[in-house]
Amino acid sequence: MSDQSLTRFSLGHLPLASLLLCAACTSTPVGSAGGDMEVVPDVVLAIHGGAGTILRENMTPEMDQRYRQALTQALEAGYAALEAGGDALDAVEAAIRPMEDSPLFNSGRGAVLNDEGEVELDASIMDGAEGLAGAVAGARTPRHPITLARRVMNESPHVLFAAEGADRFAEAQGIETMEAAWFVTPRRADQLKRMQARDASSTADLARRPVDEKFGTVGCVALDGDGHLAAGTSTGGMARKAFGRVGDSPIIGAGTWAADATCAVSCTGHGEFFIRLAIAHQLHARMLFGDQGLPQAAREAVLEELPALGGSGGCVALGADGTLVAPFTTAGMYRGWVTRNGVVTVRIHGDERR
Ligand code: ASP
Repeated sequence: MSDQSLTRFSLGHLPLASLLLCAACTSTPVGSAGGDMEVVPDVVLAIHGGAGTILRENMTPEMDQRYRQALTQALEAGYAALEAGGDALDAVEAAIRPMEDSPLFNSGRGAVLNDEGEVELDASIMDGAEGLAGAVAGARTPRHPITLARRVMNESPHVLFAAEGADRFAEAQGIETMEAAWFVTPRRADQLKRMQARDASSTADLARRPVDEKFGTVGCVALDGDGHLAAGTSTGGMARKAFGRVGDSPIIGAGTWAADATCAVSCTGHGEFFIRLAIAHQLHARMLFGDQGLPQAAREAVLEELPALGGSGGCVALGADGTLVAPFTTAGMYRGWVTRNGVVTVRIHGDERR
């Protein structure tokens, strides 16, 4: 099998080889000392499933296959929403929900555990058309935190609900909630045990841990037929985080941003750095006020400023003209996109783009 996983929706008569060729010639790798970046035109939907040390030698062919399938399913769900006449927000929510249900990703079921062995779920969504936003931080009950974030945006006058307030709002909204045990997978329980055994003392020292233990957030950016952009992000945060710690994912402007005039952005990585650099909003500001194109804005913010401050991670960012960039400073980032004509591309490793 090719290491490039492609599916096609509307032009199913084309042979796979021509699709592979087509994807290869339309995406342009952009080199950078800071890491990897790819520029792809004509994209309507893109997702990430977290950035980190995703090494081929640590990945069995079965796991590789499972991740690619899960990413493809999420892209298909988001694209189907667009095809059905849904707007960019519908597509973002539709793509993120299956990833929240998948134990492979650090969001919803399968989210990482805090130092007390519990999930605390963060999510946000932003509407590029109206500049509306909704978010939840430290929620414990919503099966789909992204749906709850959207309800905050649409059904409350607020932007962010935290902890018990988020759970109460979920109940009041009648959205699906689950018992705490449903979210906890054996893989995450083992991960926490291993981390605690290795270092009995500290939750504060997140930065020195191997990056593959920290990341796995999911996110989506979409562009609909009316030219509107939207972005969303959902996560369990960082493994063995301190009780009550909130990362960048539910912080509008840090982990998520969308504005029709510029771009839609969803980030993943070491959240504290994304907050301090306001990475998602920074891309927008560079474009709006600094007259930069999206590739330059993404390169300077994610591949230069982020590592310069000591942070790591990546993002998917979609311009209003359908240009997608997916920069990351780590060895890999689970990611994929669908172009206007329905071609699905999925990637995992950093060296997979050429
Ligand atoms: N950015 C998330 C956080 O810091 C973690 C991740 O992307 O995996 O909470």
